[in-house]
Amino acid sequence: MTDHIETDVVIIGAGPVGLFAVFELGLLDIKCHLIDILPKAGGQCAELYPEKPIYDIPGFPMVTGQGLVDNLMAQIEPFHPTFHFNEMVESIETLGTPEAPLFRVRTAENGTTFTCKSVIIAAGGGSFQPKKPPIDNIEAYEGTGVFYAVRKMEMFRDKKVLIVGGGDSALDWTVNLQPIARRLTLLHRRDAFRAAPHTVEKMRALVAAGEMDLHLGQVSALKGEPPVLEGAVIRKDDGSEFTVDCDVMLPFFGLTMKLGPIAEWGLNLHENLIPVDTEKFETNVPGIFAIGDINTYPGKLKLILSGFHEGALAAQKVHRYVYPEKKLLFQYTTSSTSLQKKLGVA
Ligand code: FAD
Repeated sequence: MTDHIETDVVIIGAGPVGLFAVFELGLLDIKCHLIDILPKAGGQCAELYPEKPIYDIPGFPMVTGQGLVDNLMAQIEPFHPTFHFNEMVESIETLGTPEAPLFRVRTAENGTTFTCKSVIIAAGGGSFQPKKPPIDNIEAYEGTGVFYAVRKMEMFRDKKVLIVGGGDSALDWTVNLQPIARRLTLLHRRDAFRAAPHTVEKMRALVAAGEMDLHLGQVSALKGEPPVLEGAVIRKDDGSEFTVDCDVMLPFFGLTMKLGPIAEWGLNLHENLIPVDTEKFETNVPGIFAIGDINTYPGKLKLILSGFHEGALAAQKVHRYVYPEKKLLFQYTTSSTSLQKKLGVA
């Protein structure tokens, strides 16, 4: 089913910078929807270093990656942004004029379209995408027999499931899918796992009880007439091979950041970054802004605090597109009753 949504602004990327932009836009009565390919908010902070301490967020002597994301989510709560997770923005079409911009934004997964007056690209280093195992012809089974994420567990009910990997995703999905799968097999290169110890223990208990299988080795080939997967050939360390029957294979080899479709949006690019001015953080297309790690300008520092500043200035220009007839008054949150009402504290 495809949906159509009308809003003031679409923010591409729900990393820390996209999240704080919601706050700055919200103070100016600008509504937004955020789209992220990940299943959760927080970008690099939540995906790459949730438990690591950050020491250079103004006002926080120390906060973890996830702690910062949690605080940002609490801070933007009064503005009720709508999140669209597990969706990658595929295209931006220009419908309006440079004076009165209007855009149609489309996502790849279920083709949701958005009409909006401005687009803020807060896409960091690009979209997080799954690392694929080096198996011949694996693409032919993608979406039918090979999946890199679990969007709906029910899809795997009564299936013969092969999970490949030794990290948290592989182990979490092993213990979660085992009860509904017809038979579940976990495959890893060696008998040591990087996942949380209690999840590894659960998996080992299931193996000991004969309720799932664990094999060591690597997938060397897939079997079955594409796109129907019937089995995976496993090569062991000693070079011997055997086949595991499976209807679906879920490789969890981690994520990598790729620029993705941004290159096709008609924007000027410089070494895979989007050049912007430092007054409004607008791109070469009026109405499309780029903030955070994805942009470039003289003196750019890829720091979270830079992205916060960029979002605040971009919001000022967005206001002119969304409310061309309204004059913007500069106000402090400390002393403005009108801002405090928006924040629900007055
Ligand atoms: P990101 O956090 O990269 O978020 C961008 C989001 O956009 C991602 O979730 C991505 O999936 C999504 N996206 C991209 N393209 C699309 C698309 N087409 N469709 C849908 N979604 C899309 N910075 C500091 O200031 N202090 C530190 O101490 C610090 N420590 C760090 C430690 C590590 C290990 C790392 C890796 C980085 C660190 N950084 C630090 C850098 C900081 O994390 C980044 O500057 C920050 O995350 C940038 O935020 P962002 O919102 O611009 O992008």
